[in-house]
Amino acid sequence: MANKTPITVAHGDGIGPEIMDATLHIIQSAGAALEIETIEIGEKVYLSGNSAGIADSAWESLRRTKVFLKAPITTPQGGGFKSLNVTTRKRLGLYANIRPCVSYHPFVNTKHPGMDVVIVRENEEDLYAGIEYQLSPDVMECLKLISRPGCEKIVRFAFEYAKLNNRKKVTCFTKDNIMKMTDGLFHKVFDEIAAEYPEIENEHWIVDIGAAKLADTPNAFDVIVMPNLYGDILSDVAAQIAGSVGLAGSANVGLQCSMFEAIHGSAPRRAGQNLANPSGLLLGGVMMLVHIEQMEIAERVHNAWLKTMEDGVHTYDIFKEGVSKQKVGTKEFAEAVVARLGQKPATLKAAKYATGGVKRKEWTRKPNTAKVEMVGVDLYLSSRGATAKEFGDKLVSVTQDSLKLTGISNRGTIIWPGSFPETFVTDDFRCRFQPADVNAAVSQDQVLALMGKVAVAGYDIIKTETLRNYDGKAGYTLAQGQ
Ligand code: NAD
Repeated sequence: MANKTPITVAHGDGIGPEIMDATLHIIQSAGAALEIETIEIGEKVYLSGNSAGIADSAWESLRRTKVFLKAPITTPQGGGFKSLNVTTRKRLGLYANIRPCVSYHPFVNTKHPGMDVVIVRENEEDLYAGIEYQLSPDVMECLKLISRPGCEKIVRFAFEYAKLNNRKKVTCFTKDNIMKMTDGLFHKVFDEIAAEYPEIENEHWIVDIGAAKLADTPNAFDVIVMPNLYGDILSDVAAQIAGSVGLAGSANVGLQCSMFEAIHGSAPRRAGQNLANPSGLLLGGVMMLVHIEQMEIAERVHNAWLKTMEDGVHTYDIFKEGVSKQKVGTKEFAEAVVARLGQKPATLKAAKYATGGVKRKEWTRKPNTAKVEMVGVDLYLSSRGATAKEFGDKLVSVTQDSLKLTGISNRGTIIWPGSFPETFVTDDFRCRFQPADVNAAVSQDQVLALMGKVAVAGYDIIKTETLRNYDGKAGYTLAQGQ
């Protein structure tokens, strides 16, 4: 037998322990060479006072084995508990979330026979950086961070995945018609990297119409790569329209570590009743076996599972009179898969894993050497009930001899000079200060002097953002209507 691969396993909460037992039983019966370390995560750990839901000893195991098979966990209700999934993804640098969404027509009910889409979701950045502030009594802020290295890693991963798995097309979804800088960067990097893979077709869709097309005609897509938030939402949509969220597994892959799981949660109401479908976690386990290069075992397990689906041996969640043949519990389902090890599906496409997972490398390019120049500053000031005109006129008078007030905007829309009475205004005013020549360099001293004047005049400075040019190109957007 091959050398055993150490992996870390967490049995999780709710239906987690049952579906993990079933999954391990199947993959071990298939001959997986695994050395299993078990860790405790989730509800019990949270309720013991650990707000992260994971103990230091568990991190130690994960960082040593670098392979994590994880059952779903329950995040206790109420504040103060951080999402264990988000923490694990970010601390272990699991930048790529891969979710195959496949329909099993005619054996599992779906409106989309033939659907076979893989969603590759960026997993570390975007609005999930979790950087939020209350700027004023009325306004909350969540920062959307998109970095060039982050885009390069995930887009490269998507193309490498497509190449390795004989996929023909990679599609990118963004909203770069609105978020020209953040989503614009993701799209730009997509175009740059796509050019290095001429054998793979590439295309870009604005996420709204792309999502509509995906829900309506998923067969038009093959691999889709997207920033974190769109990927989070659309990978659930894709899994659901393929047949059931209960059937989808997912891989979270980083340069060093990886985590494999079902996409569904801990379904607490179904726990302990031998009812749950272990298929999502099992297919996550298959992705793990491919990742640790036990491809033959991955193929045996996947094909036995496909044959079980074909034979109509189904758990309650996908059981359908007239289509299914036998309604089974979690344990019986696992035994049915084990009994079919070595068999292949007759109708569904058999699984074939010729090569292991994507070989990850440090895919980011040389450091950016653009010439950076500060050319102004935005001061966010609270309004204290003034109208835009009063506010702007007074600010001009107190900041004479400094940088020039060139505009005030509210939630991104210009309100001074030239406001519309129709524009709704909150208590957080963004005041832009620039030199007479808007591309002239501004020093830190000029910004500090300006802030001093504003503070002395009694304004409450909520925050500042400096305006910078990169190789002479503006690194900031104009306000709407400016
Ligand atoms: P859920 O996915 O647990 O359940 C949604 C529905 O799907 C329920 O009706 C459930 O019975 C059914 N279902 C889910 N998995 C099933 C399976 N394997 N077999 C049969 N039926 C299945 O989502 P929820 O109810 O919103 O969340 C429950 C808990 O799970 C929450 O505490 C949530 O925080 C957690 N959760 C964890 C993860 C994770 O650990 N990755 C992901 C999502 C939700």
